[in-house]
Order: sequence, then C-alpha cells, then structure tokens
Amino acid sequence: MLNVPDPFWVITLFLLGSFVGSFLNVVIYRLPLEKSVVYPGSHCPQCNKNLAWYDNVPIFAWIYLGGKCRNCKAKYSFRYPAIELLTALLFAGFYIAYFMSDVRLLMPEFLHGGWIIYLVHITLVAALIASTFIDADHWIIPLSVCYITAGVGVIGAMLLHYFIDFPISLHGQQWRMLPFAGPKMAAAGLGSLIGLTLTYMLIKFGLYKRSFHEFEQACLQAQENDQPMPSEDDVNIRREMGREILFLAPIVIMTYLAVKILSGQSDVASKWVILIDEQKWLAGLLGSVFGFMIGAGVVWAIRILGSLAFGREAMGLGDMHLMGAVGAVLGWQSSVVAFFVAPFFGLGYAIMRLVLKGSREIPYGPFLSAATIVVMIFHDSIMDYLGVLFTQPSVVP
Ligand SMILES: [Zn+2]
Repeated sequence: MLNVPDPFWVITLFLLGSFVGSFLNVVIYRLPLEKSVVYPGSHCPQCNKNLAWYDNVPIFAWIYLGGKCRNCKAKYSFRYPAIELLTALLFAGFYIAYFMSDVRLLMPEFLHGGWIIYLVHITLVAALIASTFIDADHWIIPLSVCYITAGVGVIGAMLLHYFIDFPISLHGQQWRMLPFAGPKMAAAGLGSLIGLTLTYMLIKFGLYKRSFHEFEQACLQAQENDQPMPSEDDVNIRREMGREILFLAPIVIMTYLAVKILSGQSDVASKWVILIDEQKWLAGLLGSVFGFMIGAGVVWAIRILGSLAFGREAMGLGDMHLMGAVGAVLGWQSSVVAFFVAPFFGLGYAIMRLVLKGSREIPYGPFLSAATIVVMIFHDSIMDYLGVLFTQPSVVP
C-alpha cells in the first residue's frame, strides 16, 4: 500500500479547506438572498468587475490587495479571508485530530477507509461554518444546507461498509464513526420515516395546517401591499404548538408500532434481525435516519415545551434541522450531547456580552455548531464518560 506521509495530507487538506472556505463565503453571502451560489462567478459587489483567478486566491489575495478591489478600491471585509483561514485550519485540524492523534482510537487509517469518514464529517463542518455565519447575519439557518448535509450523512452511512472491513473486535462499534443501527433502532428509524411521510401527506391533503400558517400569510400580504409587518406577539403560540404536537403524533405512533412489531419473538421480527445484520447499508441508512429524527426531535421537544412555557417561540426550525443533520452524520448520540453542551458556549458568550455592555439577543446556531465540533473531536472520551447511556448492544443477538 502506498505510504503517503501525514504532512502531505495536512498541507493538501489545508489548501482544499481554503478553497472550500472561499466557496462558503459565496454561500454565506448569496444563499440567504436566494441567489445562485454557482452563477455568476466571483465579482466585485461594488463595481461588478469579474475577479481574475489571481485576485481570487483564498486568504492571500485579500492580503496582497490590502483588502480592496483592484479595480474600484472598494473595501472588502476582513471576514472573507478569516472564514477561508478558519475552514482551512479545520480541514487540516480534523485530519490531525482523527489520524495523527489518539483522540479517535477506532478511526481506520486515512487510506484504509478513514477518508470516507473524514469526507462525510468535514462536509458537516463546512455546513456548520456556513450556518454559523448565516445565522449571525440573518437569524436563519437555510434548510437546504441541513438537508444536503443530512443526505451526505445518509449516503456515507450506507457506503461505510463497502470501504472499511471492520475487524470482528470492532463489531457493534461502527456507530462511533458513522451512524449504524441494530435491529431495534433500525425498526425505530423505519417507523419514524413512515410517520413523517404520513404527516407530510396530511399537510398535503389539507388535513393538517402548518404552524404559523396564518402569520406567514399575513406577512406575505403585508409585503405585497407595503403595509407594516404583523407582530409575532399577536400569534396564539399555544395553538401553533398544538399543531406541531399533531405533526409529531404520527411519527411517534409509527415509531412505537414499528419497534413493537419488529422486535420480539415473532417470525417477522426474526427475519428483520437477519435482514439488518446482512444488509449493512440498510443498518447504516436507518441509523442515519434515526439520528436525524432524534437530533431534530430533541430540539423540537424543547421548542414546544419552551414555547408553551414562555408564550413565545423558542428555538427556530433552523436549529431543529441543523441538529437533525448533525444526527444524520454523527449518529443520535452526538447530536443529543452537542445540544446539551451548546448552552455552555452560549452562556459564556452571554456573560461576555453583558460585561461588554451589549444586550442584543443572540442567535443559537453558532453555539450548536461550536458544541458539535467539540463533540466530534472528543467523541470517544465523551461517550465513554457517559458510558452505559450510549453503549449499543451488539448487532448479532
Ligand atoms: Zn470593484
């Protein structure tokens, strides 16, 4: 097997990261404005002149142009090279953490399949960077970013076993790399997927109304007629949360039924156990789906409880989908832990703001992102510390 020295990968991934960071700048700027992220190419927002490739080199172009447009001398924010550098450092840093240090003990070598885990995880990291800055600017997390990331997680979990030959000693430990379900969790994943489909159909056929439906209609109408925007204070938050509880009902019921039917002593149940054990891609897929449901579900539960308790909307749908994506990529365990670690980052920041005498409210996405990155790197020690809570029974009964 080819032996490529680590520094080669660190430098290559640093450079790759700087280009991805450059693309993330485009995503962060254009996506919330609903502009295409691929067309047109990079141009100066001031004078519209297209950037030559040498004026578009990540990090360095900003430095040698002194942060100005070559043509019209418009000033470019320091944030552009900063995001490129941050992305480059994380791309290189994750390689060092995963493949050159001991923090992730079970990680296969990079060229022996570790690369597929790295690729899926680093996609999540890129999505977290984009979400953080879009949330900071606009107070939204684009759902498209969450769905694409979750999709990459699902595909990665399905493919993992075709790239990595897990030694028998590691069986039942795959969930530490990418989501992987035993028969029971797979049943829950399948049930939740059926339940979610039911909810969507109920909405589609008009039997369910989306929450905040009237409020959104009123906003659109106000926009069209140039009237002042309606206030969210006039929304009956308890009724909206009631609707969201109804959304959840089919998912919870179908999950319960699927687990009930597919585990136990019946004929179907024993066929299911064999199916999940033999079809590794299905175990990965349903593990990833289950991760999405739990990641999003925990935020959703807190959102409903918080909104009912405080009488105003707590935690956005963006936060919910972001943690769903985290669950789809890292498994349900990591998304739950990250969600409960995030407030500590938020608290530190809030105290800092108080000390610096700022009192504006702050978006939550950046803290969820920071917490997720910490959980990714220190995954093994965190999961071992939480111990029995997160140990998964072996796949074969
Ligand atoms: Zn210009």
